[in-house]
Amino acid sequence: MIQYKAPLKDINFLINDVFNFQNHYQHIPGGSDATPEMVDAILGEAARFSEEVLAPLYQSGDEGCVWNNGEVTTPKGFKEAYQQYMEGGWQGMSAPVEYGGQGLPLSLGVIKSEMIGTANWVWGMYPGLSMGAMNTIYMHGTEEQKQTFLLPLTEGRWMGTMCLTEPQCGTDLGQVKTKAEPNGDGSYNLTGTKIFISSGEHDLTDQIVHIVLARLPDAPKGTKGISLFIVPKYHVNADGSLGERNAVSCGSIEEKMGIHGSSTCVMNFDGAKGFLIGPEHKGLMCMFTFMNTARIGTSIQGVGTAELSFQNALPYARDRRSMRSLSGTKSPDQVADALIVHPDVRRMLLTQKAIAEGGRAMLYHAARLADHMMAAHSKGDSAGYEAYDDKLGFLTPILKAFLTELGYEAANHGVQIYGGHGFIKEWGMEQIIRDAQISKLYEGTTGVQALDLLGRKILLGKMKSFNEFRAEMKEFIKTHKNTREMKPLIRQLKRAMFQWRIGTFRIALKAAKNRDMVGAASVDYLMYSGYIIMAFFWARMADAAYSGIKAGKGDTDFYKAKIQTAQFYYDRLLPRAKAHGKMMLKDPKSLMQMKDEHFSF
Ligand SMILES: Cc1cc2nc3c(=O)[nH]c(=O)nc-3n(C[C@H](O)[C@H](O)[C@H](O)COP(=O)(O)OP(=O)(O)OC[C@H]3O[C@@H](n4cnc5c(N)ncnc54)[C@H](O)[C@@H]3O)c2cc1C
Repeated sequence: MIQYKAPLKDINFLINDVFNFQNHYQHIPGGSDATPEMVDAILGEAARFSEEVLAPLYQSGDEGCVWNNGEVTTPKGFKEAYQQYMEGGWQGMSAPVEYGGQGLPLSLGVIKSEMIGTANWVWGMYPGLSMGAMNTIYMHGTEEQKQTFLLPLTEGRWMGTMCLTEPQCGTDLGQVKTKAEPNGDGSYNLTGTKIFISSGEHDLTDQIVHIVLARLPDAPKGTKGISLFIVPKYHVNADGSLGERNAVSCGSIEEKMGIHGSSTCVMNFDGAKGFLIGPEHKGLMCMFTFMNTARIGTSIQGVGTAELSFQNALPYARDRRSMRSLSGTKSPDQVADALIVHPDVRRMLLTQKAIAEGGRAMLYHAARLADHMMAAHSKGDSAGYEAYDDKLGFLTPILKAFLTELGYEAANHGVQIYGGHGFIKEWGMEQIIRDAQISKLYEGTTGVQALDLLGRKILLGKMKSFNEFRAEMKEFIKTHKNTREMKPLIRQLKRAMFQWRIGTFRIALKAAKNRDMVGAASVDYLMYSGYIIMAFFWARMADAAYSGIKAGKGDTDFYKAKIQTAQFYYDRLLPRAKAHGKMMLKDPKSLMQMKDEHFSF
């Protein structure tokens, strides 16, 4: 039976020892409410809800959703759990006060979402997507749209979706065909079919607010001709109550490899009434607000996958007995030693641990940037907003793709640690893999994230954010290069950082001569960058742990384990960057020379 215990010790280590969130909260609106007592209470309650209400629904939710004549029933217990979530005011925790939220920092919301998503990712997708709809309306909606839609979404009475994908296109949204005809009264009629729409139909709330990409009649071709619309399932009366049913319906739900408890819907828009959000033909730009939220959300899935698989592999590795340790019997009174004595099992467990904790650190760093970005937005500081948007934009594809790829790897180790039992459904370890596969696909595949990173953020972005991030690393290295215990890590980090710069320049030079270079190098470049960035955060965590030991505060064994995991990361995971670094610089010739028709030989 899959169990979840919120890693509050690690969360507190990051927010207190590594990132000093209390200091950070002094500089952002709403931060003064996030006192240590308040943060403790919120984390404690989120942990309780995730452990006691959501985790027990994880395996049973694998039974899936049921479609019947356009209606979708979610798995047993999902609705009741949602009722508790809504009554707890969780949805509006980090939403603006003027639209019904509590105005607490976004970063606290990320930690809450991490606990929820680790305990039960599938359940968490429903409120998670709704959060994206809320952000899109907040950033681009009119005041009237905010009053009508944002308030009930923030209160959790309604839920939102993201309707981009169509049968002919997912990545290439320039091919979107759904039409929006103006009605002459400020509203539009939308006609078309969207597929793969998560939470498109369900029984958790009566109202569902779809955020839909569609084309106006005079729209230019491609991505420059797409606009964004709000299409509610039920029309909304002037007093905010629900009116007649709108002409949008769920034609069917998909049978999938995993995330069975999440409804993945075919949505038919048959002249459904909708309202434009943001400027005409700028829908994709507005949708990026949603997609960025969703991408950071998906990186949480990577961290959560690694954490859940690790938490459930560890007790098994301690309990199950197999043969004797190579270095001498460890449990002479037992028939055999525990799995955890064997180096290879430890390799897998430590890989899971290093991914989960390293990924969590990367995520919380990004969450702090998001706090600053929203603070600048609320102050009307557009230059500040853009500066933080750029910093976050550089990290987003890495967080999304690197952490989900590694999360999936960690889930594989989880099954492997269970041996044959890992393959058996009852234990739940195989479900973690099935549920994790999608994290590498939706919100832009790993390949597409990699193109975004290398093509848009690095080469077209003139390396600004890349240099800013490296400047932070340099500063850290400078401050710690003479600290005796940090020297071994700092030496390796410095070398990796230097090579990262050279490698990036070499790709840029090669790409100027051969356009296929970007596509050929991109995934290796993303993984290479990910391993180096994670090394930076492991060095920061090791430093904080050494400081904790020196100051004689906290749990020394916890700090020691942190340092040992950092050493493991540098010894056994960071070297992977070298291989990616070599591959990314190879000429694309061996990829491109074979004729398409010769692939089948
Ligand atoms: C369970 C599930 C839930 C989903 N939820 C939603 C949702 O809520 N809302 C929504 O709108 N969509 C949703 N999607 C759709 C999802 O975002 C897309 O499936 C995904 O973006 C990939 O698009 P595609 O399936 O069309 O693949 P394609 O775009 O056809 O890509 C196929 C392969 O080709 C690669 N590829 C494509 N173009 C390029 C290129 N230019 N260069 C290099 N490689 C390329 C891709 O990386 C991929 O490996 C969901 C999908 C699933 C399966």
